[in-house]
Amino acid sequence: MTCCMSAIGLAGAIRQRKIGVGEAVDAALRAADKVQKEHNSFLAVAHDSARKRAAEIQARIDAGEDISVLAGVPIGIKDNISTLGIETTCASKMLEGYIPVFNATAVERIEQAGMIVIGKLNMDEFAMGGSSETGAFGAVRNPWDISRVAGGSSGGSAASVAARAVTVTLGSDTGGSIRQPCSFCGVTGIKPTYGAVSRYGLVAYASSLDQIGPIGADIDDCAALLQIISGSDEMDGTCVINQPFVFEDSITERLEGVKIGLPRNYFEGGIDDDVKTAVLAAAKELECAGAVIEDFDMPLMDYAIHAYYIIACAEASSNLSRYDGLKYGRRSPSAGSLSEVYRLSRSEGFGLEVKRRIMLGSFVLSSGYYDSYYKKALQTRAIIKSSYDSLFGRFDMILSPVAPTAAYKIGENIGDPLKMYMGDIYTVSVNLAGLPAVSLPCGFSEDGLPVGFQLIGSAFSEARLFRVARVYQRRTAFHKKRPGGGAA
Ligand code: GLN
Repeated sequence: MTCCMSAIGLAGAIRQRKIGVGEAVDAALRAADKVQKEHNSFLAVAHDSARKRAAEIQARIDAGEDISVLAGVPIGIKDNISTLGIETTCASKMLEGYIPVFNATAVERIEQAGMIVIGKLNMDEFAMGGSSETGAFGAVRNPWDISRVAGGSSGGSAASVAARAVTVTLGSDTGGSIRQPCSFCGVTGIKPTYGAVSRYGLVAYASSLDQIGPIGADIDDCAALLQIISGSDEMDGTCVINQPFVFEDSITERLEGVKIGLPRNYFEGGIDDDVKTAVLAAAKELECAGAVIEDFDMPLMDYAIHAYYIIACAEASSNLSRYDGLKYGRRSPSAGSLSEVYRLSRSEGFGLEVKRRIMLGSFVLSSGYYDSYYKKALQTRAIIKSSYDSLFGRFDMILSPVAPTAAYKIGENIGDPLKMYMGDIYTVSVNLAGLPAVSLPCGFSEDGLPVGFQLIGSAFSEARLFRVARVYQRRTAFHKKRPGGGAA
């Protein structure tokens, strides 16, 4: 029964004593064990701590305490987010066996809200990738077709929601890692404005781009979770929002007065016809709901990927220098000297994609190349940000595809990094500009694979994105479809 409910619905049933917290958690643990085998979406399932927490939360609910709208709901956490006492590996051999002694702020808030962490979700190693194939513990399989990727890097977070093992999860998005796996798996996700959710306890990939966000079956669940995790935090000076988001509950049916920009050049070449058709149909649907849709040309489309990969790799090379084999993480057993500790621990601990990025990042930061690559990338980033600023003078939001294709076969692109990077063409500029975006299911490819679209807003306009996303999901049923033909 719990598997077919929304997170909000499940919490309601728990409050009304129709379902016990222990029952909900047991069902989620069983489902997590199952999808761990079938899709490799979990890296750890926390049976003991989850059952113990379930009993505590049930006792508080029984005592009449009104904890939060999602109290008692089980949740899965991407494995790059620190969970006290639960192994956090970032899907890397470098951190295998690492058990954090603290919770990330987002996890702390989830626990304060009475939610129960049931396990850690598989991903690309250190969140570097777009297919959840680069992790050291195997690829995540897409529940819609297990021969295909789940997308990445938050592949486990999206796949476990698609399989309805859990109602909600946390992912992280540096250049598309929440939105793209949501599109590939037919679920909903929010990449919050940079500075809306604390990054404390999120293992850093590219600190100026990283942001934690919610994934769920629909926008209401995602919004409920975002309200819980957002808000300032003294542990993260870049978390600038004062108060957590409060989204109004009133339901709007119409979108008169909402102006949505449609980037014409996003639909010319390089995009699969199935994706194009589904995304343009989503624009039509919003138009039928009263929104005004207007075409424009997205400036600098060809530069976003280059700027993103230079900046992301530069920051990654610096962030990952902390894994030195001494302080924490893997230490090579065969090292005989200090320099061998560094060299062998890092050679054995990191996978190919992570090494590639550390090398690229070190290169663009090195003297002689800094000005021609890194500095230019930062200048490009500033221009991208200001062109978004002027677009938001014309439009309330921008509607775009999330990825040029639906989910591809496991192994199909992994040997071609440049092709893989080009798959991020529609998502990375959002992170470069620090903007919020929601990813919503909007159709299926000819092969029956989910396709999503995104709505991109100005900084801290999550409430507006939520309102439009909600209208869209009340008019459509794509988010209710489940792998295997069922409906939620
Ligand atoms: N695919 C992008 C990358 O590999 C985005 C990853 C992410 O958002 N974590 O950098």
